[in-house]
Amino acid sequence: MALNLTRRNFLKTASFAAASVPLSKIVAHAEEGVSKTPLIPQGSFKDTRTVTGGICEMCFWRCQLVGKVRDGALMKIEGNPKSIDNGLSICARGNAGIKLLYDPDRLKYPMKNVGKRGEPKWKRISWEEALDECGKKLKATVDKYGPQGIAMFPHGASAKYPMHYFEHAVGTPNVSEASFFQCRGVRDYAWLSAIGGGPDENVDMANAKVIFALGCHFGENIHVSHTKKYLKGLANGAKLVIVDPRFSASASKAHIWMQIKPGTDTAMVLAMMNYLIENKKYNADYVDEYGEGFDEFKEAISGWTLEKAAKECEVPAAQIKEIADLLAANAPNVSIHPGRFSSWYGNDFQRGRALGCLAGMLGAFGVPGGWVKPKSPGGFGKIKWGHGHHEEVEALHREAEIYHQSPAGTPTDLIRDCAITGNPYPIKSCVVWGQNPIQTIPNQQKTIDMLMQMDFVMCVDVMPTDITMYADILLPEASYLERYDYIKKGTQWDLSAKQQQYISARMPLVEAGFERKDQVYICNELAKRMGNEEAIPVHTIEEMMDKMLQPAGLSIKKLIEENGIHLQPGKDPYGEFPDIIFYNEDLVDEGYSGAPTYVPIPEVPQGYLRLLFGRSPLHSFNRTQNNAWLHAAMPENPVWVNDKTAKQLGLKDGDRISLVNSEGVESGTTSHVMVTPGIRQDCVFMAHGYGTKNAAMTVAKDAGIDDQKLITIIAVDPETGCHGMRNNFVKIVKA
Ligand code: SF4
Repeated sequence: MALNLTRRNFLKTASFAAASVPLSKIVAHAEEGVSKTPLIPQGSFKDTRTVTGGICEMCFWRCQLVGKVRDGALMKIEGNPKSIDNGLSICARGNAGIKLLYDPDRLKYPMKNVGKRGEPKWKRISWEEALDECGKKLKATVDKYGPQGIAMFPHGASAKYPMHYFEHAVGTPNVSEASFFQCRGVRDYAWLSAIGGGPDENVDMANAKVIFALGCHFGENIHVSHTKKYLKGLANGAKLVIVDPRFSASASKAHIWMQIKPGTDTAMVLAMMNYLIENKKYNADYVDEYGEGFDEFKEAISGWTLEKAAKECEVPAAQIKEIADLLAANAPNVSIHPGRFSSWYGNDFQRGRALGCLAGMLGAFGVPGGWVKPKSPGGFGKIKWGHGHHEEVEALHREAEIYHQSPAGTPTDLIRDCAITGNPYPIKSCVVWGQNPIQTIPNQQKTIDMLMQMDFVMCVDVMPTDITMYADILLPEASYLERYDYIKKGTQWDLSAKQQQYISARMPLVEAGFERKDQVYICNELAKRMGNEEAIPVHTIEEMMDKMLQPAGLSIKKLIEENGIHLQPGKDPYGEFPDIIFYNEDLVDEGYSGAPTYVPIPEVPQGYLRLLFGRSPLHSFNRTQNNAWLHAAMPENPVWVNDKTAKQLGLKDGDRISLVNSEGVESGTTSHVMVTPGIRQDCVFMAHGYGTKNAAMTVAKDAGIDDQKLITIIAVDPETGCHGMRNNFVKIVKA
């Protein structure tokens, strides 16, 4: 496929086009029938000013922002002109942050559930009453069951401070971040075992000759500076290789698109590496200098011929060879992208290791286009909660050690099992901070069973979500536009003319409305009521920020004077070469294979289709579903169905359908079919995060199908305990 990249063409691609809907059109559409109430406070407009220091949290990439503020009301969000990261660019979701800020459905006051869990009736209460009840109930749990009687599900920057409180001062081991066990944790630990460090997404795509990605949805999973690097690479002439069962936005730009059978990627990578070895097309100098265990690795993968992999992956052997040759011819200046959301099939650790080894064989480290380790600014203050003495809480940790390569925290499914069975101990209180476990953790019924057996459930969030229906006490948090939190730092050499480093910190663009509070206030007040006052590390969020910034010679005041971003000279990012552990003896000692290994996954049962899901450029999973502008631009998640499959099933484009999975779980809500040749015949695809059940989300309720509801089979990755979620099968039911 020829590459014809101009910005205009890029914006015309089907998947990206939705992100480029004119804002005026979105606003007009959104305002019809959603709310007649003015969402933005009206004013005299005399006092328009630009407030700097904002950092976006419509997703977790943290783009740097400024706000146009009139009479205390935020009128518009833009990229910070001083930013060398995202620059002036923000994505559709970033723009729509203003609709989150003034969403009439937002949580405004502390609330007590005087109805049932799952069918709440909310009563407004004072902060004093809410905090007293939370403190009393959580303390009672600790007194009766020990600190391990509490489970915590955090997500996002504001959840870090309370997460560390519950981990260290309270001492519970039952802390589980969705970003680790359902998303990128398996990738991080796979690369750790291959190169001795987490990869993040530090591939120098802007300077690459080839960009190679397995299942990465550039253009759909938009992170502005990352997308810019990808686009810069393509504009500079990089060849793009996309391996994906679906004709994604990035596949539409690809020089080579391999429509692989789901779950077989590792077989393809092993065959490429074996081919490179047999034909002496790998970087022998790099391997000799930095490789460990290459002979054992070579032996272990020697059976992987192109033909064997082709049969397994259901792709032409010649295409595997073509990709291997393209990478070898352009090595070492090739970006082997580590991916982001990587918990797919329960064999994901092996795929991650194989990618790390492939990059090593190509010598694609520390060079333009390869994987680099950016030299970011350091020397920041740490905020540490005082530690309690918690020997007894080690039990679940020991159990979690069956997953020797487990990311930090405890696998979510293990916490649920422990809570439901009471084995090895009871978990009777639950704190949910910015996460929506109903729609992030597979097998919803199990999550509900866990919640229903709790003595106490508290949620802290900005918006209502499906989990907040199960809260006993629901606390309203200040949004990212109304509060300080955490530093964003980095280095930039590939998007700017010179090497520079930046330091910024999230600062409020407007004051918090109604009775919303920041995380330091809420958490400290809980700590006081739970008897942990002496462990409190800072007393206000401003003190926290200054304490972190002070060792770097900065403060909130100084950052404001510098328009929200401190710039300083950068350092050459190239020239750092990690050791590549081709054959990992530590893994062998733990009972795993020393070399990357392909593990087949279950086949699609007769009459079913494999359920694939992913990101949309217009939503950050469920978090943004109630946003009126984003909802107007993408009100539901079309179900991609192959044209031949659609014909067999008597479906046509636009038909309304629901789904039922192989365990009999029905989607409950409907969406429409998108008939396309751009997906394998045995799969369907949909965007993640739709189909909320919470009536308090008046825009999003019942819009689209909730993929998570249909994911009842979890394929646990044996090395990490992460949850592979693509081994679920569905049937289409015409609505
Ligand atoms: S990529 Fe978009 S949503 Fe994410 S932080 Fe940047 S502007 Fe916000």
